[in-house]
Amino acid sequence: MYIDSHCHLSKEYYENLDEIVNKAKENNVNTLIISGCDKNGIIEGLEIINKYNNIYMTIGFHPSEANITKEEDLIWLESLLKENKKIIAVGEIGLDYYWVKDNKELQRDLFRRQLDIATRLNLPVVIHSREATQESYDILKEYKLNGIIHCYSGSLEMAKEYIKLGYKIGIGGVVTFKNTNLVDVVKEIDLKDITLETDSPYLAPTPYRGKQNSPEYIPIIAEKIAEIKEISKEQVGETTTNNIKKLFNINV
Ligand SMILES: [Zn+2]
Repeated sequence: MYIDSHCHLSKEYYENLDEIVNKAKENNVNTLIISGCDKNGIIEGLEIINKYNNIYMTIGFHPSEANITKEEDLIWLESLLKENKKIIAVGEIGLDYYWVKDNKELQRDLFRRQLDIATRLNLPVVIHSREATQESYDILKEYKLNGIIHCYSGSLEMAKEYIKLGYKIGIGGVVTFKNTNLVDVVKEIDLKDITLETDSPYLAPTPYRGKQNSPEYIPIIAEKIAEIKEISKEQVGETTTNNIKKLFNINV
């Protein structure tokens, strides 16, 4: 059995969510964790987790929301995290200097404010870091938290540093692409430090690269990891599922 630890399942991308959930189940992907990373995404996500037993959610304001997130939004976020048992972590939060570079101070501030919330509520975090690997690391080092470095794309050395800090490395479809350094990362780090994710609808694995991604493709990622580590796909499924259950404290 598998868990997709990070996907976006809004109506904007998927007309028929029942079908997506069923197809995932047919492929042994029994539990899905959606990421609500802006106001509308969170509101829509609340409806989804109310409807489906096997879907959980993480919530947090993405760095692309840094210019518009207000004090009251953070208060709302914290109250949801406190009240709803199916909201299991703060995220995705972090730094993104690829899309926006001119508001670094605001991004860092929003990131820290949400790490403070995670600390207060004793919750794990899901980190989005793009072209800001070192800086994200430096900020996380100030905190004593754990979580997932979602859609990891950095070096092996940096992955090892994050693991030492208590983080899991989120591996998605990119590991199936040609010429990715993720193969070395996956080979060298322990399976107990890896979580699987699709980041649907983005980053579909080969042979679906460029098309819409879906949680049902998680076994393709598992198979690639199994091949790299010369173990069985089932073992990848079992260990990564346990990693996620333990980290997010869910019983599935
Ligand atoms: Zn995401």
